Amino acid sequence: MEALKQKIREMGTVLSDQVLKVDAFLNHQIDPALMQKVGHEFAERYRAQGVTKIVTIEASGIAPAIMAGLELGVPVIFARKFQSLTLKSELLISKVFSFTKQTESTIAISAKHLSAADHVLIIDDFLANGHAAKALIDLIQQAGASIAGLGIVIEKSFQDGRKLLENEGYRVESLARVASLEGGQVHFLD
Ligand code: 5GP
Repeated sequence: MEALKQKIREMGTVLSDQVLKVDAFLNHQIDPALMQKVGHEFAERYRAQGVTKIVTIEASGIAPAIMAGLELGVPVIFARKFQSLTLKSELLISKVFSFTKQTESTIAISAKHLSAADHVLIIDDFLANGHAAKALIDLIQQAGASIAGLGIVIEKSFQDGRKLLENEGYRVESLARVASLEGGQVHFLD
């Protein structure tokens, strides 16, 4: 998606060979017009799939997810993060290792929002090693729902997330694919 790549070139900051900072338009300050285009693009790619719900993770997945939900006309659920959580029967719970924080946290969604009748599109801001995606897949499977695929705003293609997810049979649609962050520059795959 050209407008997104342009924005990354203009406003993204390469923090290291592994981490791209995009807090000027996605992770802190949010560009609503760009998010609308992102949501439209996800909707175009998944419109024919019969998606009934979108699932994302707080906080940075919410903006793109809500725009995609608006376009597809479906509700958006965001998994909430907890430092620790005592088991509650009304919650679906999983664990996720955070790439940026290098800590493990617990994520949960209320079981009442997902059922076996749902066909879910997962949306997130970044795909790195796929830990967040795998935890969301786990929550959705606990509800017995099926998965249409994943929509990722920025994929770091030099990390293993896409390979891991595709090996398990999931469709991954990424709007910007970063081949490397070497030399302080963002190099796109295509
Ligand atoms: P994964 O779970 O795929 O290893 O990492 C994805 C999650 O970590 C995303 O939800 C995102 O919040 C965060 N993340 C991973 N890489 C980056 C990055 O380069 N920049 C930022 N801002 N967040 C990242």
